[in-house]
Amino acid sequence: MSRSLHIPTVVIGAGAAGLMCGVHAGQGTVILDHAKTPGEKIRISGGGRCNFINLHSGPHAFLSQNPHFAKSALSRYSQWDFIDLVDQHKIAWHEKTLGQLFCDESSQQIIDMLLDEAARAEASVWLNTHVKDISHDGSCFQLELARGGKPLSLSTDALVIASGGKSIPKIGATDFGYRIARQFGHKIVETRPALVPLTFGGSFAELSGLSVPARISCNGTAFEEGLLFTHRGLSGPSILQVSSYWRDGDPITVHLMPGMDLVEALQSERSRSGRKDLATALGAYVPKRLAADRTTAAGLTGNLADQSDAKLRILGDALTNWHLTPTGSEGYRKAEVTLGGVDTDGLQAKTMESRSQSGLYFIGEVVDVTGWLGGYNFHWAWASGVAAGQAIRAKKS
Ligand SMILES: Cc1cc2nc3c(=O)[nH]c(=O)nc-3n(C[C@H](O)[C@H](O)[C@H](O)COP(=O)(O)OP(=O)(O)OC[C@H]3O[C@@H](n4cnc5c(N)ncnc54)[C@H](O)[C@@H]3O)c2cc1C
Repeated sequence: MSRSLHIPTVVIGAGAAGLMCGVHAGQGTVILDHAKTPGEKIRISGGGRCNFINLHSGPHAFLSQNPHFAKSALSRYSQWDFIDLVDQHKIAWHEKTLGQLFCDESSQQIIDMLLDEAARAEASVWLNTHVKDISHDGSCFQLELARGGKPLSLSTDALVIASGGKSIPKIGATDFGYRIARQFGHKIVETRPALVPLTFGGSFAELSGLSVPARISCNGTAFEEGLLFTHRGLSGPSILQVSSYWRDGDPITVHLMPGMDLVEALQSERSRSGRKDLATALGAYVPKRLAADRTTAAGLTGNLADQSDAKLRILGDALTNWHLTPTGSEGYRKAEVTLGGVDTDGLQAKTMESRSQSGLYFIGEVVDVTGWLGGYNFHWAWASGVAAGQAIRAKKS
C-alpha cells in the first residue's frame, strides 16, 4: 500500500543545479536523486578539484539557440556571488589558467558546502529514489516514486527538473529531463555530445601522448589552448572547446605554432646552419616525434640548405594550416556536457518556469544552454538553480 503526502517543492536531480535550487527554494523542499550519492559530476569535475566557476564568465561563453536567454540568470547570480559563498565556507581555491577557479583540496568540499546550505535552508535530499510517473491533475503535480525500493506517492506545487544531460551514463546520466519536457509539450533542441575528444580512426597512434599548445578552429570559431594526441584521435582543452562547434563531416584546422612565424624562423636558421637536418631544426619548436611526422607529411627530407622558400612554406602549412576531418567523437561516454536540450523558447528567462505548465521548472544542463570548458557550465547550473529557487520561494510568500 503506497503512502501519499504533499511536498511544497520537489527538485529532481541532486546535482549542481538541483542542490543550488534546493538551497534557495525554501523550507520543506525535497531534492531527490536516483543515485546513491549526491553531486557525482561535481565530485569527478576538474580532475577531482572542481573548476567551480570562471572569473571571466558572461553570456559570450555560452551556446544556445537563443544566446540572450542565459543573460538574466547569469547576471543576477554572478561568479562573484559564488566566490563569496565558497569564501564563507572557507574553501581554499586558486586560479589555474584563463580565469578558471579550482578548489585547492577537493571537489567534495563544494558538495559538502551545498549539502550544508541545503540543510540550513531545511531542504531534504532523498537518494536512491526513482521516479516512476509524473502527471498534473489540474491543481498540482502527482509523482509516483520508489524510495529505497518502496513505492511512495506524493503531490507538489512546484516541480523542478534538474536531471542534467546525457553525458557519462555510467554515473547516472539519463534522458529523463527531455522525456518530461516532451510530456508537458516542450520542444527539444537536438542534443549532441560536447566538450568531447574527437576521433580520427587511430591516425595519431604514433604521436599518442604528445601535448602541445595550438590554435584549433572550426566553423569560424577558434580556441588557443593545449592539444593532446591520443591513440584514438585528438583531445586537450582546445579540441574539447572546438568540439562544441563541430558537426559530423566538418573539417577542423590545427595551427601548431600560434604566435610564431615558423617559415621566417626556419629561413633564418637556414642562413646560420644550412647543414642542419630539417626535422632536427623543426624539433627546436615542436616535440621531435611531431617534427618528424610533419616533415614526412610535407614530403620533405634533407638539410635546411636543401629547402627552398617554397618548400619551407609547404612545411609551414603542414604545421600551421593543418586541415583534418574527424571521423567522429568519443560520444556521451566521454563528453563533459550535452549540447542542446529543452528549448529556451518554452521557458521564462528570469525564473526558468515553463510557459506552458505553471509550476514546472527546468534548470542546469537539461536546458539548451551550454558553456565553454573552464567553469562556465557550473556557473549556468548555479545561476539557473538560484533563479528557479528564488522564483519558487517568492511565489510561496
Ligand atoms: C568529467 C566531467 C568533468 C566536468 N568538469 C567540469 C568543471 O570542472 N567545471 C564545469 O563548469 N563543468 C564541468 N563539467 C560539467 C558539469 O559537471 C555539468 O555541466 C553540471 O554538473 C550540470 O549540472 P546539472 O545539475 O544540470 O546536472 P548534473 O550535475 O549532471 O546532475 C543531474 C543529477 O540528476 C540525477 N538524475 C538523472 N536522471 C535522473 C532520474 N531519472 N531520476 C532521478 N535523478 C536523476 C543524476 O544522478 C544527477 O545527480 C564536467 C562534466 C564532466 C562529465
